[in-house]
Amino acid sequence: MAYDYDDQNIFAKILRGEIPNDTVLETDYSLAFRDIHPQAPLHVLVIPKGPYVCYDHFAQEASDAEILDYTRAIGKVCALEGVEEGGFRLISNAGEAGVQEVPHLHVHILAGRPLGRMLAKA
Ligand code: AMP
Repeated sequence: MAYDYDDQNIFAKILRGEIPNDTVLETDYSLAFRDIHPQAPLHVLVIPKGPYVCYDHFAQEASDAEILDYTRAIGKVCALEGVEEGGFRLISNAGEAGVQEVPHLHVHILAGRPLGRMLAKA
């Protein structure tokens, strides 16, 4: 399946500077910022700057440099925010079944409280 990127999504607007964000980290190819509706004491979103809809799109089509930068950016945010101490969860929702609201790849980093089991029953 070929992904069709919508450059009017809210994270594309953040990347263009049209909407403010609470930046945690910016690198050559990635941006990390705090979620506007945090679901845990720590809730940071990490996005690539490139036009990728979701994780598999990125993993299949991004350059090695983008993938390296993005993976390291997630690691740097984890280190900066000290999530190793109490544990954490990474989530990347995709598409309809994944209930993805914003169609630009993002990894949620959640920490700071017990996060419960991975999935609630539907
Ligand atoms: P998802 O359901 O995985 O697509 O999650 C999208 C996330 O983006 C949600 O947790 C929203 O709270 C968050 N979000 C939406 N708009 C903004 C914004 N302007 N700044 C920061 N986070 C946002």
